[in-house]
Amino acid sequence: MKIISILGSTGSIGCNTLDVIRLHPSRFKIFALSGHTNLDLLLNQAIEFQPAYIVTKDEKSQVELSALLKNKNQKTEVLFGSEGHKYIAGHENVSTVLAAISGSAGLISTMEAAKKGKEILLANKESMVMAGDLLSKTCEINNGFIIPVDSEHNAIFQVIHDENNPDKINKLILTASGGPFRNSKIEDLVNVKVEDALNHPNWKMGKKVTIDSATMMNKGLEVIEAAFLFKIDYKKIEVLIHPQSIIHSLVEFIDGSSLAQLGTPNMKVPISYALSYPERISSGIAGISLALSEDLQFEVPNLQKFRCLKLAYNCLEQGGSFPIEINAANEVAVDAFLSKKIKFTQISDLIELALSGAISTNINSIDDILAIDNEAKIKAKLLLKGTKFA
Ligand code: MG
Repeated sequence: MKIISILGSTGSIGCNTLDVIRLHPSRFKIFALSGHTNLDLLLNQAIEFQPAYIVTKDEKSQVELSALLKNKNQKTEVLFGSEGHKYIAGHENVSTVLAAISGSAGLISTMEAAKKGKEILLANKESMVMAGDLLSKTCEINNGFIIPVDSEHNAIFQVIHDENNPDKINKLILTASGGPFRNSKIEDLVNVKVEDALNHPNWKMGKKVTIDSATMMNKGLEVIEAAFLFKIDYKKIEVLIHPQSIIHSLVEFIDGSSLAQLGTPNMKVPISYALSYPERISSGIAGISLALSEDLQFEVPNLQKFRCLKLAYNCLEQGGSFPIEINAANEVAVDAFLSKKIKFTQISDLIELALSGAISTNINSIDDILAIDNEAKIKAKLLLKGTKFA
């Protein structure tokens, strides 16, 4: 039986994971859950799954939930904040950690799980983008193991997990839906509203990743994630727009064979593979019917239109701390767009400006990463106050 801590149980990935776990009560035991702002949902999850711990975002919500659980005579202990997350990620009773906190906030707890040699189901791509080599090495040294949950990386993992020789791979092809603006003209993107950008055609996801999908920064971050995760030269990673989201990624081998993973675009499919690996279990989602599906289409992304994707490749070329810089600038830019401080097209403007003055520095520790992240965010926020974004 896998004993699981879910970091981010009230988000989209967390809820989908609990849906799969509900189907298999004898296989999985929830040890701990954590949530950010949705306290009602976290409380309901705690009552249903009876974890040893839950973690809230701050002391106020900790006190509130503790009282509510005590009233119900429930023994679940309530922790809060970063220390609480570290505790449930590294606890000796835990075999498996689902890292599903959105953004850079997930890094410290993911690293803690790596240090303690846990099986990490990685849904927080920003951890891999920011900490890349360090996270992989920490896992290896401590006999930990990363199973990607992101649908594209999960597809590639399903194809190559027995393939430990990257020299046999010609290229990885990450598919992308193209998001809601695939058919929009470049000149129309300046008028995109927050509501339009949040309306993804194929996937139901959290706000940050949905905006990232609309700008295709999500795919840019995924290229960086794939380069680190599969230890492959970024020049061998391509992006292909596939609007139907049936093929979730492909691997082309040196003999000319390409292997792909196909499935209904529902996160429960990759989540159930990550949960059950190396076995397979029911995800509750039906398979695809190719005879009934619309024609599968493919196209090369327009890098003039999706400048964020181009900027992500530039960062891989620069290497060093550039992936941390782009991730930080993107978080600030997406926040600013969601709070209607900048236009949609200014997301890439801000990131480009932030990167233009960046200097790559060495990374030796998690503290180095957090310091670069923090400085890059301060810089991006200062740029936001400049005349270009007023
Ligand atoms: Mg993805």
